[in-house]
Amino acid sequence: MSKITMITPLVEMDGDEMTRILWSEIKDRLIHPFVDLKTEYYDLGLPHRDETGDRVTLDAAEAVKRYGVGVKCATITPNADRMTEFTLREMWKSPNGTIRALLDGTVFRAPVVVRGIAPLVSGWKKPITIARHAYGDIYKNSELRIVDSCKAELVVTSPCGIEERQLIHEFTGSGLLMGMHNTDKSITSFARSCFAYALDSRQDLWFSTKDTISKTYDRRFRDIFAEIYGAEYRAAFEAAGIAYFYTLIDDAVSRVMKSAGGFIWACKNYDGDVMSDMVATAYGSLAMMTSVLVSPDGKYLYEAAHGTVTAHYRKHLKGEETSTNSVATIFAWTGALKKRGELDGLPELAAFAEKLEAATVGCIEDGVMTKELMPLSAAENKVYCDTFGFLDRIAERMS
Ligand code: NAP
Ligand code: MG
Repeated sequence: MSKITMITPLVEMDGDEMTRILWSEIKDRLIHPFVDLKTEYYDLGLPHRDETGDRVTLDAAEAVKRYGVGVKCATITPNADRMTEFTLREMWKSPNGTIRALLDGTVFRAPVVVRGIAPLVSGWKKPITIARHAYGDIYKNSELRIVDSCKAELVVTSPCGIEERQLIHEFTGSGLLMGMHNTDKSITSFARSCFAYALDSRQDLWFSTKDTISKTYDRRFRDIFAEIYGAEYRAAFEAAGIAYFYTLIDDAVSRVMKSAGGFIWACKNYDGDVMSDMVATAYGSLAMMTSVLVSPDGKYLYEAAHGTVTAHYRKHLKGEETSTNSVATIFAWTGALKKRGELDGLPELAAFAEKLEAATVGCIEDGVMTKELMPLSAAENKVYCDTFGFLDRIAERMS
């Protein structure tokens, strides 16, 4: 059998621990036998990030800007314990944060939906994709405890020293105060990423804020989305038969619960933080959550939503059996290969990626799965697989 040829390389970012092991096994068992894989390889494993002073993360992000499509393995975000464990020179920042900032991108998270694993919300038949605005609001706030009576004001000073003041509250006792911000630039990039991804994935886009209460702040989010939609995307959405829909956050929550899924829900930073955990839990397993970073100018970086599964890696190092679910990492590869196939006009590459997805989902639907899915699946005659056994079963289906 001749292998599928690629034109443009994928930007490949290797990572850490258990997912690094999955990474090479997925390539060896599920991709190399069928595809003459072309990648530009960046090792984002923590030891190499440390050796390069994190230069490798920046280089990898630049490569995604250049080539347009990347695939990333989960990586360790260092903390104090990791500093000691890896004798790091510095507490390097989260690679995801660094790459997201460089690409000015938005993260879209969607579950892999499998027959036999019913979401906790019985009406959800298709995936709900959450897009979280990852800048500002309470995540970059400034907070104060008020201890006694005082007048709190917002003060804005222009570069030439002109002050504008607005009363917040006249305190007559102790209390709390918080200041937060966002920028038109960041909201605009968020909106463009959302419209671009909705169009690309042919799904309706919902957006929600609390603009009935927050008449200036949240209203600005709503207006920016509406302006960009009208000026840049309306015609394309209509041609694609998809819709842009704005509603209040409360209304969105109740509609989401009653929906059948199959749309993208764009959320402000806090709403996205909370709602993505709710949606992920309702669909069953973090190991079935995929994630794609999309920049406003249409660059794509695919990955799994989960981390490096440290607990399993430690068992693996001790020679103990592990049952780590590789689905989200496989779907990161298939997402990237499909997108590359689409951009380079290689339908056979996209078709391969779809077959690999079908083989993966097919295994689980037939009852073959890793440990954490066993209690969730309604399949008859369930077969437990360890980490490598599950990959073997997919490989068997592929050949
Ligand atoms: P994690 O790697 O997502 O794992 C947490 C727990 O979730 C695991 O111990 C396991 O539970 C379960 N789990 C996650 N993925 C699984 C899979 N594929 N198959 C089966 N079970 C799975 O989160 P963490 O342990 O908090 O973080 C570990 C490292 O990952 C940290 O250094 C963190 O910085 C990093 N991280 C990276 C990313 C990223 O690169 N995008 C995201 C999050 C975290 P059981 O042990 O109960 O089986
Ligand atoms: Mg959260």
